[in-house]
Amino acid sequence: MIILNSIQQLQNHLNGIRNNKITIGFVPTMGALHQGHISLINAAKSECQVVVCSIFVNPTQFNDIKDLKKYPRTLENDCLMLEKANCDIVFAPEIKEMYTFEELELKRQGKEDKSWTQGKTVGFGILDKVMEGAQRPGHFNGVAQVVSKLFRIVQPNKAYFGQKDFQQLAIIRSMTKQLGMPIKIIACPIFREPNGLAMSSRNERLTKEERSLASILFKTLFEVKERVDSLNTKALTEYVESKLKSEPRIQFEYFEIVDSETLLTADGKFQVKSAVACLAVKIATIRLIDNVVLY
Ligand code: AMP
Repeated sequence: MIILNSIQQLQNHLNGIRNNKITIGFVPTMGALHQGHISLINAAKSECQVVVCSIFVNPTQFNDIKDLKKYPRTLENDCLMLEKANCDIVFAPEIKEMYTFEELELKRQGKEDKSWTQGKTVGFGILDKVMEGAQRPGHFNGVAQVVSKLFRIVQPNKAYFGQKDFQQLAIIRSMTKQLGMPIKIIACPIFREPNGLAMSSRNERLTKEERSLASILFKTLFEVKERVDSLNTKALTEYVESKLKSEPRIQFEYFEIVDSETLLTADGKFQVKSAVACLAVKIATIRLIDNVVLY
């Protein structure tokens, strides 16, 4: 496994091995890796000859500078885990390698930077307005900005994303299509802790009791899945809200049942081809999201 920090080094290396017989798989991450991330590396390894994992804590997707500063940085341990998973290349750039001063300045001033579209008209419709988009304005623009940059740098054949961030996946699919990038986006299932809690670097910040309480998210989502044939969206939403709101240690943010593709509210079982139930809560100060595909 090699670890590279500069775009030039990475591109030189990839250009030396790139040919039409090898498939390059790419797993973008912000580091603080856990087994959920490694499941993406494993999926990429099983389908690609060369796997690149990027580790970059992206400043433009954070709404709050305090969260950016607090984000765990564990590069040494991440590299050990990636080496064990037989990842081929780690790309771990500094901020100044990825962003110009002007781009960072726009972010600092709270302005949305659309330069990543390179003059194309790219719009996400409601994809970046609902759920996470409503709670975290500008977040998905920052995600699209960094992922489009990384895609242009790595030029992978396939890129792997977790269904844990379901809305992010929808945004990336849409962005890739609108920018005409020849990259296949692969969705990987949510990797969970033994109690059902979706793995996340944020889980480390929960106490033992909070972590055990957090398994209520997964349990509730699976109850919804079990009841989807007998109850409509309104009844399911009321059920989830009353269950989570009755737990004083949980701050409820949203629960939505949406069309997996458009993210529009799905109202009845047979109205859409596939629906997903998504929720977000806070336990103590830690924000947790989870989802389950219903059908
Ligand atoms: P992050 O570094 O947290 O931004 O995540 C990098 C990638 O790992 C994203 O595509 C996430 O959706 C994915 N990921 C994070 N947690 C999990 C999980 N528990 N299971 C599967 N994929 C995950």
